[in-house]
Amino acid sequence: MDNGGNGGGKQPPPPFTSEHEELRETVRRFVVKEIAPYVPEWEEKREFPRELYRRCGELGLLGLKFPEEYGGQGGTHLHDAIWVEELSRRGASGGVAAGLNAHSSIAMPPIFKFGNEWQHERWLTPGIRGEKIGALGITEPGAGSDVASLKTTAKKTEGGWVVNGSKTFITNGVRSDFLVCAVKTTEEGGHGGISFLVIESDMPGYEVTGKLEKLGWHASDTGEISFTDVEVPDSHLLGRENEGFMLIMANFAWERLLMAIGAVGAMDRLVEVSTEYAKEREAFGRPISGFQTIRHKIADMATKAAASKALTYDTLRRFEAGEVVIKEVAMTKLLTQRSLVELADEAIQIHGGYGYMREYEVERALRDARLGPIGGGTDEIMREIIGKNMGM
Ligand SMILES: Cc1cc2nc3c(=O)[nH]c(=O)nc-3n(C[C@H](O)[C@H](O)[C@H](O)COP(=O)(O)OP(=O)(O)OC[C@H]3O[C@@H](n4cnc5c(N)ncnc54)[C@H](O)[C@@H]3O)c2cc1C
Repeated sequence: MDNGGNGGGKQPPPPFTSEHEELRETVRRFVVKEIAPYVPEWEEKREFPRELYRRCGELGLLGLKFPEEYGGQGGTHLHDAIWVEELSRRGASGGVAAGLNAHSSIAMPPIFKFGNEWQHERWLTPGIRGEKIGALGITEPGAGSDVASLKTTAKKTEGGWVVNGSKTFITNGVRSDFLVCAVKTTEEGGHGGISFLVIESDMPGYEVTGKLEKLGWHASDTGEISFTDVEVPDSHLLGRENEGFMLIMANFAWERLLMAIGAVGAMDRLVEVSTEYAKEREAFGRPISGFQTIRHKIADMATKAAASKALTYDTLRRFEAGEVVIKEVAMTKLLTQRSLVELADEAIQIHGGYGYMREYEVERALRDARLGPIGGGTDEIMREIIGKNMGM
């Protein structure tokens, strides 16, 4: 029997316990029934319905790790991890998962962690219900890996800030209601001069200047945003002035770990669909799984998937226990994102010409996977973090 890739009938591997299995089953049923069948249509249309946020909100899936007083489920990061893993494991595309998670797991955590009661009420509670949609705005046309060099400025005025600048590559940037936005609040900017403002998309001077076309993640919107003299009240400052860099770093750990967890789910799925296909597809009078090269490809895929899962679950366990895992998170992201690209490529090879066709999901899997070594910090930056944390 299928047990989420954990092996039939066994106890779930740590950090998960049998207590988590009920949620896994709920998410699995939901994704299989209400998401996976519509993915081809949403990918083609370049968006999924806004209504999906509300539906996820109704089921409690956007607030798994937030306290009940805000409408959340009062769970932990482990509950969120199950949601993210099962989304990709059960057939949500990278774009659908990105659109949902950029809101619930990337834009809302800093509001919860650094926000005050007024801010929780204004963005977190409606966000958990899927009524307001959030995005995280850090990257700019001239500042990606080098986050500290961002140029969007917020100038202090009586009672607030005036924001000028632009952001790019923002997931949910086109349809978000609020943007958790990094801005320069000193002349010099840099590590000690960045703050976060929550900017609402209906504020005068806030303009979505583009919806970007991409290689993959088609069902997610990736926006370009410009700010022209946007007046943002003081009450929208998230956390302390000039301490935004800390918020960026705090957020990255979970974002990267989530990307790893999503990849783990996607890898299990690729192994599964490739195995099924290899058993069914015949060439030279026998199933292609009868050829040692194909069997070995799948054996290598399964091995990489298992190694990625082991490292990811271990980093997740340590993260949840409160350990400082900067190096481990970077290692986990580096390994899982590259492994997923390799697995998706092999899955296409096993599927032959059909693998190159839109009809088979492995074609999309490779396009979606290619974002992994770039987004949320590139492979090269992960290696820099690992090297620095090894004292070099
Ligand atoms: C589909 C998509 C969705 C995204 N969603 C969001 C979002 O919601 N919010 C957000 O803020 N951002 C988002 N991003 C931005 C993403 O985080 C950045 O693209 C990423 O951090 C890389 O920055 P960059 O594109 O400017 O590349 P650059 O920083 O210009 O890097 C170019 C190349 O140079 C290398 N490089 C740079 N610095 C170094 C160094 N010190 N050592 C070695 N090599 C280096 C990089 O590794 C890379 O190979 C998204 C991007 C994409 C493509």
